[in-house]
Amino acid sequence: MTLERIILASSNKGKVAELQHLLGPAGIEVEPQSGYPVPAVEEDAPTFVENALKKARAAAAASGLPALADDSGLAVDALGGAPGVRSARFAGDTADDQANNRRLLEALADVPEGRRSAAFHCVLVLLRTPDDPTPVICAGLWRGQIALEPAGSGGFGYDPLFLPAGCAGTAAELPPGEKARISHRGQALARLLECLPMANRPA
Ligand code: IMP
Repeated sequence: MTLERIILASSNKGKVAELQHLLGPAGIEVEPQSGYPVPAVEEDAPTFVENALKKARAAAAASGLPALADDSGLAVDALGGAPGVRSARFAGDTADDQANNRRLLEALADVPEGRRSAAFHCVLVLLRTPDDPTPVICAGLWRGQIALEPAGSGGFGYDPLFLPAGCAGTAAELPPGEKARISHRGQALARLLECLPMANRPA
């Protein structure tokens, strides 16, 4: 089976454009799932990989196309890996980025500099069919520290509080191209590109 068209298990236009940009040169057209009757998937699994699998399966089943899904979040060591898969909802089911960042600073109020290590995780799952027994799974990990206060206006989510290892400021202060290159998502995407010949193997 050769991958020519895949569905992205997301309706986020930014993600679709980013992936089309990367996968286009490999001869793969990326479609958003908004054009298909994909049911809402509850991201309630305990791991990123299981949530990404759930999203990819639902998209592949509804479209009849191979499907790519991603799941990502922030794991803080002093919080036992929280917020993890709950990163988008850390301050509540309808929380926005600012509320989540405030909640993170509160949770770490008693944790001094030097003990605020954390990592962003991203998992990408590519399924050729809903019941593909050998999904392609690629992960990326971006280590850093949680700052004492927010800085920067770029990026999204926890970027204003994340001090990537080896960088002078927060992720929200990085030029966008630089973040895309070194981040958890950038690393997982680079691995996916390396794995694509494997996805084009016989089913
Ligand atoms: P999702 O994988 O797009 O659902 O992202 C889950 C949540 O993790 C987001 O809502 C953010 O709170 C957080 N997150 C994931 N990736 C990043 C990032 O690159 N920067 C900041 N926050 C992120």
